[in-house]
Amino acid sequence: MGRAGEIDRNPQAEIVDEGHEVHSAPPAPEVFERDGWVCGICGQLIDPVLKWPEPRSASLDHVLPLAAGGEHTRANTQAAHLICNIRKGARTSY
Ligand SMILES: [Zn+2]
Repeated sequence: MGRAGEIDRNPQAEIVDEGHEVHSAPPAPEVFERDGWVCGICGQLIDPVLKWPEPRSASLDHVLPLAAGGEHTRANTQAAHLICNIRKGARTSY
């Protein structure tokens, strides 16, 4: 009557999702404050009063697009008008 305790390793507990730091997303207002509410794409001021989906409301833009290997970090994000962000995003497919 032996115990087979050594196979009780619960492999699912070892799954660590390295490289996917989804929780490192910077709070958008913090990035806007850092950039002084200036759009990083057109260089004009963003009105903090405007809310999404207003075209000129503040949005978080990725300097290097995620599709191009950019990261969702403070260093790679900037404040941008929503409309500028959309235009820029639409242009990545040329
Ligand atoms: Zn802009």
